[in-house]
Amino acid sequence: MDKYTQSESQSDMVQRSLHSVWHPCTQMQHHESVPLVPVSHGRGAWLYGSDGKRYLDAISSWWVNLFGHANPRINAALKDQLDKLEHAMLAGLTHEPVIRLSEKLAALTGHALGHCFYASDGASAVEIALKMSFHAWRNAGHSEKREFICLQGSYHGETIGALAVTDVALFRDAYGPLLHGAHVAMSPDARAAQKGETAADVAYRAAHALELLLQQRSTHIAALIIEPLVQCATGMAMHDPVYLAQARALCDKYEVHLIFDEIAVGCGRTGTFFASEQACGASPETAAVWPDFVCLSKGISGGYLPLSLVMTTDAIYQAFYDADTARGFLHSHSYTGNPLACRAALATLAIFDEDDVLNANRARAQRLTAALQPLAHHDRVRNFRQRGMIWAFDAVIDDAAASRFSRRFFTHALQNELLLRPIGRTVYLMPPYILDDAECDILAARTASVFESTIGHE
Ligand SMILES: *Cc1c(COP(=O)(O)O)cnc(C)c1O
Repeated sequence: MDKYTQSESQSDMVQRSLHSVWHPCTQMQHHESVPLVPVSHGRGAWLYGSDGKRYLDAISSWWVNLFGHANPRINAALKDQLDKLEHAMLAGLTHEPVIRLSEKLAALTGHALGHCFYASDGASAVEIALKMSFHAWRNAGHSEKREFICLQGSYHGETIGALAVTDVALFRDAYGPLLHGAHVAMSPDARAAQKGETAADVAYRAAHALELLLQQRSTHIAALIIEPLVQCATGMAMHDPVYLAQARALCDKYEVHLIFDEIAVGCGRTGTFFASEQACGASPETAAVWPDFVCLSKGISGGYLPLSLVMTTDAIYQAFYDADTARGFLHSHSYTGNPLACRAALATLAIFDEDDVLNANRARAQRLTAALQPLAHHDRVRNFRQRGMIWAFDAVIDDAAASRFSRRFFTHALQNELLLRPIGRTVYLMPPYILDDAECDILAARTASVFESTIGHE
């Protein structure tokens, strides 16, 4: 591993952190060779070390940051909220930030999904959607519908329930004995195209496989859960939008709920505010395809505070509405609907309107895609792909070399002022929506040179 130099005070912080902080998604022993980077502050797309080094946050700090670090508008909203109400429980009480946020989000779905249930992290939102689906069927006299379908390579979070519908072996297998098994259906991942097949052909093939499963098992199935358009954590697997319309039609036909986990792909990441807005795809007769549940988190608070929510339909809401307490949805989290987090979300949504963000991102994406063309055509690169503000490609290396490649790439990237953390052999960019032209060019050029120097070792 290349030496990554740090000042003395930085390396002191690293030692203290390694003694006391157990870092997430990390084999701690790897920090014997992989750097741990102490960060002192952030500004715009950049994170700064206390030694003055800077890093372009090209993965939006795990896909949460939309409008940069220390964003003046979000900061101002939070400071204002801090002096009004930091938190109040949401059972029996309500407050302006949570009402306004719920109204605003419902309006963004044309009120198709008009009821918002809140939690703090993404995995909890997934748990809520799964529980609500099961409980809605149970209230309707169908308690036999208690199984779930997820897709190959799906990722829905790390809690026991969410992990049960996650198909990433590295995260799931150690806990296999604890998990309630789900059905795993073929992924519409466009990379599975056989000779002469388009991405849409793969989507139809996956939909056909899904239908075979539903034919056999639908009376026991509560819901199908999907990451629409991009299965991110498995390695940015992208599929044709027609799959979503197909999934909706099949769920209707076989009476199964449809859950869209938009925790990573929502909030404009794929080019529309909700990925599901692109679901009409190749079949224009379906003007809008809404699932029964949408899970949101990550970008919704602009990357400021933990906030997640599940949006659902009037039909689901009514399935719980009753004089009997036990027919209600009694789930809760202590920080449900936290006012500070909701204010951060409202400030984030206001920026979408004020800055015409989705259109501005189209121009930004075009520039970055053009600048990445040399990489797209590199002879050690396969499957260069892009949707909205997500870019990804696969390095041509042996399976055995993938995790070493990923750690080397991360280290080389830091040496080139980039925060990039490949998923195995898949290198991806998921930057905040504020890169200017110069930052786009820096990102593309340095990603290419980091790739060149990393792949040269393999
Ligand atoms: C990140 C993620 C989750 C889990 O969210 P956490 O806040 O990390 O619990 C669930 N689903 C998808 C698609 C995600 O990307």
